[in-house]
Amino acid sequence: MRIVVTGGAGFLGSHLCDALIQREDSVICVDNLSTGRLSNIEHLIGRPGFEFVNADVSEKIPVTGQVDAVAHLASPASPPDYHRMPLETLAVGSRGTEHALALAHRWEARFVLASTSEVYGDPQVHPQPEEYWGNVNPLGPRSIYDEAKRYAEAVTSAYRRTYDVDTGILRIFNTYGPRMRPHDGRVVTSFIAQALNGDPLTIYGDGTQTRSFCYVDDLIRGIVAMIDSTESGPVNLGNPHERTVTELAELVLRLTGAESVVEYHPLPVDDPTRRQPVITKAQRLLGWNPVVSAEDGLNRTVRYFRGRPEEVRAARAAIVGGQLDGADVPELSGKPAVSAARAA
Ligand code: NAD
Ligand code: UDP
Repeated sequence: MRIVVTGGAGFLGSHLCDALIQREDSVICVDNLSTGRLSNIEHLIGRPGFEFVNADVSEKIPVTGQVDAVAHLASPASPPDYHRMPLETLAVGSRGTEHALALAHRWEARFVLASTSEVYGDPQVHPQPEEYWGNVNPLGPRSIYDEAKRYAEAVTSAYRRTYDVDTGILRIFNTYGPRMRPHDGRVVTSFIAQALNGDPLTIYGDGTQTRSFCYVDDLIRGIVAMIDSTESGPVNLGNPHERTVTELAELVLRLTGAESVVEYHPLPVDDPTRRQPVITKAQRLLGWNPVVSAEDGLNRTVRYFRGRPEEVRAARAAIVGGQLDGADVPELSGKPAVSAARAA
């Protein structure tokens, strides 16, 4: 198959490109490198079947010739990234998705949207099945991302209904692994980088909020299965093992052997209190199950970070004490901790 991967130089996108090249698909990676990096795909550049196109998909997708599938992953995904780029995030969720859909329509190609658990907002139904419509604040600081993705789902559904495009929507829950940027501000990267730097781990709120973390290899198997299927979705993809942010901090400290303290910061506005996917649809429709344990996945991620000590040290300024509290969105840096550090 000849497959376009938008956002293919990012964390998930580059792993998807790897998986597709591995099974001998042709891949056209379209990315503007706003939050992605050439280093994520440099091992693919020059390989037969792989092409990199540096372009902003919100403007257009400059790809010619037959396309069999479009996997639309382009979008900032980390909260600090989308707060730094609010209009770009809305643009790529709306115009970018429309361009990706138009390309799929033009070639009668399969279209897969990387949507997100954020469409459930701060959920009042727990765990979250696909039937749940969500609880999103349309005006809050996270709305730039959440509503962009909700619009992306709406326009994807409209293309299916109107033009019979073979579309599939995936709702991806928190995923982590190698190739994440140490300074991207997400919790897994921040905790690992802080632990390796001997800095305090910054817990937002009281640390009782939960997330369910999926290792990247598991997630990518799910995306590939969705590309190969004709399911319309939405289908949740994520690891249903739910844990609190405090438990994650403790696990990172144990696995890294770090002696960092934990430091408490204000909880960002509209930060979801609980998040856990129901994955029975993915199991039934895609034959998909996550298999990598948190210990194993985090160890692999720690190893990746240990291999980049300069990058991890350089992340310090971005993630020490810097976070969103809603009062100064989109400025993210330099908020002091509100409570004293305590030993972990
Ligand atoms: P990422 O920031 O590493 O990757 C996003 C990629 O999209 C980057 O390479 C970036 O340069 C590119 N991009 C952004 N705007 C673009 C534009 N206008 N034109 C071209 N390229 C553009 O993030 P990620 O974690 O790999 O996320 C990939 C996708 O998966 C996103 O759509 C995100 O919303 C979705 N997702 C990710 C997670 C997760 O936990 N990682 C969870 C839910 C959904
Ligand atoms: N979080 C935290 N410390 C950090 C970064 C994030 O406690 O240094 C919290 C954040 O408030 C949220 C959870 O960890 O409750 C997951 O945050 P992340 O940004 O990784 O993903 P998302 O909020 O989009 O699920």
